[in-house]
Amino acid sequence: KNFHLQSHTCVLCSQQQLETRNHIFFHCQFARMCWGYICLMFKSQNSVHDNIMVIKQEHKLPFHMGITMLVSWSIWKTRNDCIFNGITPSIYGCKRIFKDELNLVFHRAKRKDYNGFKAWIDKFR
Ligand SMILES: [Zn+2]
Repeated sequence: KNFHLQSHTCVLCSQQQLETRNHIFFHCQFARMCWGYICLMFKSQNSVHDNIMVIKQEHKLPFHMGITMLVSWSIWKTRNDCIFNGITPSIYGCKRIFKDELNLVFHRAKRKDYNGFKAWIDKFR
């Protein structure tokens, strides 16, 4: 509250776009590269719901929503690291955040979901 941002322009790309939810998480070229990491066929759709459906349909995993949230969190954390800590955004850094968070989620995974989850995250280690 009462924190004045100097700009409302996306810091993750050089497109001088207004930082809207749809831009920062799905339409930004940075976000699209991040989604491409886990979803090779990702093409950003107009609505948040349609973007989530594309990811769900590619993965067909019971934990697709968790993965979607982790990628979104990684993009958001990369954005905040840039604005508040002066860390230059990079795809490598965003992937590192994603992998670290994925490992934390994995340790909390329920045993019945363990095998499918382990096989999936082993692709990203
Ligand atoms: Zn952007």
